[in-house]
Amino acid sequence: MPDRYLSFTRTAPGRFLTRRLGLPQPAALHRWSPDRSALDGPLLPLTAGPSALDLAPVLARTGPAVDPAAGAARPAAVVLDATGVRDVDTLAGVHAALHPVVRSVAPSGRIVVLGAPLDPADHHQSAAQQALEGFTRSLGKEIGGGRTVNLVRLTDAGAAESTLRFLLSPRSAYVSGQVIDVLAAAGPVPPADPGRPLAGRTALVTGAARGIGAAVAETLARDGARVVVLDVPQAAQDARRLADRLGGTALTLDITAADAGERIAAELPGGLDVLVHNAGVTRDRRLVNMPAERWSSVLDVNLASVLRTTDALLAEGTLRPGGRIVATASIAGLAGNAGQTNYGASKAGIVGLVRSLAPRALAEHGVTVNAVAPGFIETRMTAAVPLFIREAGRRMNSLAQGGLPVDVAETTAWLADPASGAVNGQVVRVCGQSLLGA
Ligand code: NAD
Repeated sequence: MPDRYLSFTRTAPGRFLTRRLGLPQPAALHRWSPDRSALDGPLLPLTAGPSALDLAPVLARTGPAVDPAAGAARPAAVVLDATGVRDVDTLAGVHAALHPVVRSVAPSGRIVVLGAPLDPADHHQSAAQQALEGFTRSLGKEIGGGRTVNLVRLTDAGAAESTLRFLLSPRSAYVSGQVIDVLAAAGPVPPADPGRPLAGRTALVTGAARGIGAAVAETLARDGARVVVLDVPQAAQDARRLADRLGGTALTLDITAADAGERIAAELPGGLDVLVHNAGVTRDRRLVNMPAERWSSVLDVNLASVLRTTDALLAEGTLRPGGRIVATASIAGLAGNAGQTNYGASKAGIVGLVRSLAPRALAEHGVTVNAVAPGFIETRMTAAVPLFIREAGRRMNSLAQGGLPVDVAETTAWLADPASGAVNGQVVRVCGQSLLGA
């Protein structure tokens, strides 16, 4: 279902009218493409408070050219190291650093604030570091022009390299207002091959015949993975066509089958490196009108099958050390949504699964577990949403437009990167900083 309002605002009368009426003017987002793979400008590094991070070598490898004098020009990225902010006084350094340059950040530019973990023994440090969260989210809501603002909490710049590379690139065009902890014990960070980080790896994507899953399969294949496209038997033709195009294989299987995990394991005797739980369904009704079957079918596809197959593939050792699990939540699971008690419950369940399993899966299997939580993404699922709610979903976010399947796919690819071992237990919203939910 095309976004006609978005197209209208790109015409001269549309621009004129929407400006006169004070209506949202969604910016043209700079997404990754082979011929426009980096941000269009330099990176300005800034600091607030004393910092112990060795950031310079990492920033030098993340993409945009680092230029400490870029504030005078139009930086396409600003990285503010606020890890040394310990109290309200040093917090003023955040204002002092960004206030003079925020106006000059290029359209579709990136601001990344770096914070430190909250120190439970120091409530002044905790207050000042937590303040960065409110600051980041507020700046994301006011900055406009397709610019994004995110906060990364870290202790080791090297372990955060893949995260910074993602956030400081066009791949994160629809990720804003997020707080990402890069605090897990990363293990050795493999040498970066930003071009094909998944070369030699096998990835399985459920529900990959169309929509977000198909985009995930394409993006992981672009990054070098051998992809297994899993979908229900009814979607076999689309699954096979996509798998053929990507040089992968198709696996037709209903993920709710009791033995789905064992069948996947049997299909992959050589093991699996990336498991993307993307298959999902909606069966909307208000609770008063919801028969038990609508409840159970949604919980079964969206949550129970994710738990079952994850358990089976970890137990069978199919997921190799260094493996990555990326599950699909939703902002409906964070904020709730009328008519979606079943769906909201299933997607909140994904968040619980990720938070509980992540530390154990990393310690026992060397596998990270994270989730993406899409907001309004233009797919067949959202095309079926009633017009008024669809328009609200598209417009009620800081970027004033819906996301594309590729936005979720790029976020999944970052989490699947072998260099993302320090990113664990995170739920990252891909929602253009939707106004719904936290
Ligand atoms: P979609 O309906 O376009 O595609 C879902 C795919 O999953 C289909 O190919 C379908 O055949 C497959 N599938 C469904 N049940 C299955 C089963 N039992 N076994 C195997 N495959 C099965 O949906 P989408 O919009 O691409 O959404 C993908 C994921 O993202 C879902 O988990 C969804 O809940 C989530 N999500 C989507 C949005 C959005 O705005 N589109 C927002 C938040 C979350």
